[in-house]
Amino acid sequence: MALIVQKYGGTSVGDLERIRNVASRVKKNHEAGNEIVVVVSARSGVTNRLVADARSLHPNPNEREMDMLLAVGEQETIALMAIALHRLGVPAVSRTGGQAGIKTDFAHTRARIVKVTAGDIREQLSEGNVVIVAGFQGINQHNQITTFGRGGSDLSAIALASSLNADQCQICTDVDGVFTADPRIVSTARKISQISYDEMLELASLGSKVMQSRAVEFAKKFDVEFEVCSSFNNKPGTIVKKEAASMEEVVVRGAAVDKDQVKIVVSQVHDQPGTAAKVFQALADAEVNVDMIVQNIGHGGIANLTFSAPLEDAFRAEKAVGEILDLMGGGKVEGVDRIAKLSVVGVGMRTHSGVAAKLFTALAEAGINIQLISTSEIKISVAIDVDKADAALRLVHEAFELEKEETVL
Ligand code: ASP
Ligand code: MG
Repeated sequence: MALIVQKYGGTSVGDLERIRNVASRVKKNHEAGNEIVVVVSARSGVTNRLVADARSLHPNPNEREMDMLLAVGEQETIALMAIALHRLGVPAVSRTGGQAGIKTDFAHTRARIVKVTAGDIREQLSEGNVVIVAGFQGINQHNQITTFGRGGSDLSAIALASSLNADQCQICTDVDGVFTADPRIVSTARKISQISYDEMLELASLGSKVMQSRAVEFAKKFDVEFEVCSSFNNKPGTIVKKEAASMEEVVVRGAAVDKDQVKIVVSQVHDQPGTAAKVFQALADAEVNVDMIVQNIGHGGIANLTFSAPLEDAFRAEKAVGEILDLMGGGKVEGVDRIAKLSVVGVGMRTHSGVAAKLFTALAEAGINIQLISTSEIKISVAIDVDKADAALRLVHEAFELEKEETVL
């Protein structure tokens, strides 16, 4: 008998048929003698619709009320799931995040979990009940409902698995696991069998969109091993866990491309101490998530600064830079261009050399120009032309032979 925490995302519970389908999967696991906690998201589209409703009433809705509103989506699902299980003869009870003892800080709409007591979940399980918990929500010390930011049900599942010391934690979703690259772009992409928290974090933040980054961070911090798997079939998924020495044998675990990026070129700034500090402070104050940065030194005490940022931050970035340049009395925003960010990720990069060379060579041979570069210990990213993004991803996947089965685990 094992204690299993399973999370089902919005598409997995998207309609009543799918809710029935999840209920029968849960029934099988329950009949096999396991204790099951099911964490669910709102049905797909529900949260978006609630956000849109609020915004049509007010351009800047109050955050406490937003939490009150958005938490409804998950509550609908927990009750429906319990009812579907009852129909199959499975004893089940639903719990809100607050009832499940998920305590948070006061940051409405982006709350952090401070403690998980799990409420009466252990008692319910020992009485033979399946417990269904509303994801994405908790309660603060003033008994107010809080939410964890979009995609936050993943975090609920990981935090509950940690608190209950679960034997298994599964993030059940509409894909079969984490892939070496997006299979919709790269036909030879392969499901990764095991990946470290850090690699998963990099891929999550690169827009592979499989999971919420905060949930992976939490899992890393509390060492909660989990599996990303399909809600629609029973194939083994991808195990996300603590890095093992053998994981470094694989130099590149996966590749990703993010097409929603811009490159902002700022020209004619004073080449003197403090210039970059001021520009990037202004960007930080405007909450622009700057990634790749290049500075070219020009002649006569002037320089160009180029950086990348997510497309959604482009307008704020341009405005913030424009204002600070006016204050500094020099420089101008030369252009804001759409780019794609192509990245390769792998903990093996720490101990293997030549990854950058191989990446750059593959792109050069295909005539793809690299506009910006950034690296971390386990990642190399390059900014390239958006039109070439898909082709570049396929090339890189091939160059690093990512289609080949991992041999060392
Ligand atoms: N329902 C929330 C959202 O759509 C949380 C989640 O799905 O994990 O972002
Ligand atoms: Mg979701």
